[in-house]
Amino acid sequence: MDLERPFPMGIQHFRPPHCPRQGCPSQAADGPPFHFWSRGRFHRACDGRTVHRFSCCVCKRCFSVQTFRVDYRLQRPQLTGPIFDAFVSKVTQRQTARILSTTRKTVRRRLLLLARHSREFQTAVLERARLRKIIHGPFQLDEQQTFERDRRLQPVTFPVLIEEESLFVLHVEAGMLPARGNLRPSDLLRKRRLEAKDGVRISESREVVKRCFEELARVRNPDEMTVIKTDKAPHYPGALAETMTRNVLHLRYSGKLKDTSSPLWPINFTLAMLRDGLSRLVRKTWAATKERAWLTEHAWIWIAYRNYIRGFTNRQHRRSSAQCAGYVSRRFSKASFFEWRVLPIR
Ligand SMILES: [Zn+2]
Repeated sequence: MDLERPFPMGIQHFRPPHCPRQGCPSQAADGPPFHFWSRGRFHRACDGRTVHRFSCCVCKRCFSVQTFRVDYRLQRPQLTGPIFDAFVSKVTQRQTARILSTTRKTVRRRLLLLARHSREFQTAVLERARLRKIIHGPFQLDEQQTFERDRRLQPVTFPVLIEEESLFVLHVEAGMLPARGNLRPSDLLRKRRLEAKDGVRISESREVVKRCFEELARVRNPDEMTVIKTDKAPHYPGALAETMTRNVLHLRYSGKLKDTSSPLWPINFTLAMLRDGLSRLVRKTWAATKERAWLTEHAWIWIAYRNYIRGFTNRQHRRSSAQCAGYVSRRFSKASFFEWRVLPIR
């Protein structure tokens, strides 16, 4: 199945590309070749679709077209679109559950499903672009400061790496920061209690920034000069030197300028868009993330929206950032993006 156009001839010509059942011998590199036979169709009560069913000649197990879809085994697949809209429109999980007359548990499960699909899709796109050697840059990186549960006691850093011209988001990470200084006596007491429970917080800033650079080092074209622009944070040069040693140029600018005249405007603009789209990053509200791992999951859904679904700008709304970067050839709707699962590269 092609990543962008799985069925150019239409879904009625669906042919299973391989057996989707775990442990099937046909999936092994030296296993028997995959063959299937048709086992008729069934009607799905939840959305009224008629679905083809197949049987694997190797492991003898059944599967259907549905097994290859993102909404496989979902009881209310019609919630995916509205929940996705809420995730990229500053709506909290609890409010999403209220609006859609569902439970927070369903919203959380759908968040994990959409985040996993978004990450797998991005991985497949970057792998294809890596093989084609089309990931050029320049790139920009900056860290967004936020927090989990408590702004003073549990701050979090959130580095974001983008391609400068297309605003394509390559990677994000989230790491803890130590509690802030000048705490009130009551906060000091709570800090000690938290440290007794979870351990002393350290700064993971360098580590998570390094992970962003590692991802870039993995996918970039090593034969071309890679330009990376950041502000003058002291830990960036060391983290970069540990991940890329040749064909790399690190340009550092003052982070004080925040308007369009700043060389770092593309990353500043992206961080502002993130804050405007993710309920967890909206300042001075109670919507802040409770655990930083969930922030990363949520961010991957926004990245799918930014890279593949949203128009590049309001004027150039027919092209997505991924198209501008040359990584994909079409702009996706949310329905087409969350339609087919990303199959492992075989
Ligand atoms: Zn099989």
